[in-house]
Amino acid sequence: PPAETPQIVIDAHGLPYLDPKLPVQRRVADLLSRMSPEEKAGQMTQAERGAVAATPGDIATYALGSLLSGGGSTPTPNTPEGWAKMIDGFQLRAQATRLQIPLIYGVDAVHGHNNLVGATVMPHNIGLGAARDPKLAERTAAVTAAEVRATGVPWDFAPCLCVTRDERWGRSYESFGEDPALVASMETVIQGFQGRADGRDLDRHDKVLATAKHFVGDGGTAYGSSTTGTYTIDQGVTEVTRQELEAVHLAPYAEAVDRGVGSVMPSYSSLDIAGDGKGPVKMHARGDMINGVLKGRMGFDGFVISDWNGIDQIPGDLASDVRTSINAGLDMIMVPYGYKDFRAALVAEVRAGRISEKRVDDAVSRILTQKFRLGLFERPYADTRGASAIGSAAHRAVARQAVAESQVLLKNAGGLLPLKRSQKVYVAGSNADDIGNQSGGWTVTWQGSSGDITPGTTILQAMRRAGGNVTYSKDASAPTTGHDVGVVVVGETPYAEGVGDVGNGHDLELSAEDKAAVDKVCAAMKCAVLIVSGRPQLIGDRLGEIDALVASWLPGTEGDGVADVLYGKRPFTGRLPVTWPRSEAQLPINVGDRSYDPQFPYGWGLTTLTKVPSGGEHTLKTLAVAGRVAERLGADEAGRTLVTEARLIVQQKAGQRITAAVSAPFADADHLLLTGDYGKAVDRLIAAYRAA
Ligand code: BGC
Repeated sequence: PPAETPQIVIDAHGLPYLDPKLPVQRRVADLLSRMSPEEKAGQMTQAERGAVAATPGDIATYALGSLLSGGGSTPTPNTPEGWAKMIDGFQLRAQATRLQIPLIYGVDAVHGHNNLVGATVMPHNIGLGAARDPKLAERTAAVTAAEVRATGVPWDFAPCLCVTRDERWGRSYESFGEDPALVASMETVIQGFQGRADGRDLDRHDKVLATAKHFVGDGGTAYGSSTTGTYTIDQGVTEVTRQELEAVHLAPYAEAVDRGVGSVMPSYSSLDIAGDGKGPVKMHARGDMINGVLKGRMGFDGFVISDWNGIDQIPGDLASDVRTSINAGLDMIMVPYGYKDFRAALVAEVRAGRISEKRVDDAVSRILTQKFRLGLFERPYADTRGASAIGSAAHRAVARQAVAESQVLLKNAGGLLPLKRSQKVYVAGSNADDIGNQSGGWTVTWQGSSGDITPGTTILQAMRRAGGNVTYSKDASAPTTGHDVGVVVVGETPYAEGVGDVGNGHDLELSAEDKAAVDKVCAAMKCAVLIVSGRPQLIGDRLGEIDALVASWLPGTEGDGVADVLYGKRPFTGRLPVTWPRSEAQLPINVGDRSYDPQFPYGWGLTTLTKVPSGGEHTLKTLAVAGRVAERLGADEAGRTLVTEARLIVQQKAGQRITAAVSAPFADADHLLLTGDYGKAVDRLIAAYRAA
């Protein structure tokens, strides 16, 4: 505890709620019975740290229940100690209140403890979706949890369970992919954050409360609308049939509830369900979804935290926003600046009978339950035991593996990849040597930024470290002669939320500089193009001049993971988590669409897996892995790089036969296109490889 901690021996009160031996439910009931209406309203209020920084006394005066650091709202110094000291200072104020209810502090650690300089920055979720390795995803979340909790933060606004259906949406990279089953399979991250589903690991020094967000349909917003005109796709309207809502957007939440997720955040977007006669209604006001589906049907017993100022988007004045949202089932409101007015309005609405005391008691009980589970009553101050592991080699090794597994090899003509160390490589492109660009948004600052923003390894540095014989010329202005192969790393610069919307200056085209670098290098030599971006970029006819194409997503600080697959230390095994379109006119495009004709289908990804682990009958040169829809690709560029007719029978380690219907000897093939029900077979093969 900080030096100025008032000497309060907690058990001296002798009050039941302070007795850690009593069951949480009894402690909650006891504490609730002692709280005033104002104290209850305070528990339901979350303020931004910046809002109380100058007046920390307000924490006690208004009995605030929670504080957050919005993206980039960091302490000075932005170090583990800086965080712990800041939060302990706020906690001290909460401990000096009548009931000593601890604050719960929250951050957006959406890919590692990304606000903290020096933390291990993981690939963004889109990359984890490509890796399709739920166990590894869980390990990345466990690292994140350990780094976050070690700085005094017990609560994380992650994971995003958005199912991205249109990559013009600027938050697509926060999504694990376009398929709800893929998103659900990645929810092992909830265990990584929280531990066991019953919440009994939450008081550990290396676990945090997770937040499933943004409930529901955030990834399904329409780009423009026939009924409501044009609007930005972020925070827009999700127009769905009830069936689509259930199958695509709600499905991942059932899984999250089963895994015991502690909190849920509603989406800024509106939901417009065909035929329900309501038109578009903001999710923060949708009691049918929050009370009805989430808490009712799914049985969610954690608490619902609003998005940043989210209730303000509900039509009406503050009083009406407060009663609409709380009555819809929101338990805590991220205000985040007007906490005095919010709390007063909440108390007034309860007094006037427009919000029932029962509803308030339910909300406060849900919040207190998680605070008890987190052990905050016993240990309100930062437990920094794990701080020395922040950004450690062990943590970075987990990130590096995730990066390697997330790389998707889209094309590999002539088996250009993996590179050989003897080859002289010409590296170019805007994203070859930029930690900020390879980390993307939500890194140190909300929007992220280019440049040397946090310690890490760029792709260029990693290639050199891997022993590559590398010449670097960012804009490809250096002479291109004499080299064996070019590696051009292009893509996006960072953005977060609405800024990445097409229409806000961010389309899916590569920049003119990137195109010029690709054209120049690929004209001069055999070339591999790596795309560092949060979503597919349009390649179009340029694909013809590119020998090897890799989707690298937003790998974060560990560029070594990219070098690992480039130089063959690990095989490419990633597969597309979203469909890769030919043109913007095709968007939205999703697997199963009627006129599905993408450049690369959902699930596509070649692999440089060179051998079947023990028990395999054959050595595979290159195994092409694609989704069911790959059958349609016979005629296009991607299809042409494949030998589509071959017979493959692989005896797996377990003795299980994996059979794919093919008709020429695969030993002669550089690539195999496995058709039919091979998706699972390949998954098993890759799993066996990883286990070996
Ligand atoms: C985002 C949320 C985030 C919150 C707090 C909002 O703008 O939509 O995802 O958790 O800010 O930073």
